Amino acid sequence: MVEKIRIVVNTDRCYLCGGCAGVCPTLAIEVSSSNWNFYQDKCISCRICVNTCPVGALTAEPLEGEE
Ligand code: SF4
Ligand code: SF4
Repeated sequence: MVEKIRIVVNTDRCYLCGGCAGVCPTLAIEVSSSNWNFYQDKCISCRICVNTCPVGALTAEPLEGEE
């Protein structure tokens, strides 16, 4: 079973390029001109977004015990 994760953004690094939102297969991330948003209920823990961000602004944290 895949470990459930939460994606966290480092707002000091993120420049809202939208790359992560573009690669997320389930649209669990939305990026606007002023905000980065994550929707836990849509995330399938694939980590594609973490590996895609050009500035390493995203990290995955375990979701254990929070559901
Ligand atoms: S890919 Fe990285 S820099 Fe671009 S919007 Fe996503 S978190 Fe921010
Ligand atoms: S881990 Fe996968 S499903 Fe979750 S937000 Fe990132 S790209 Fe989307």
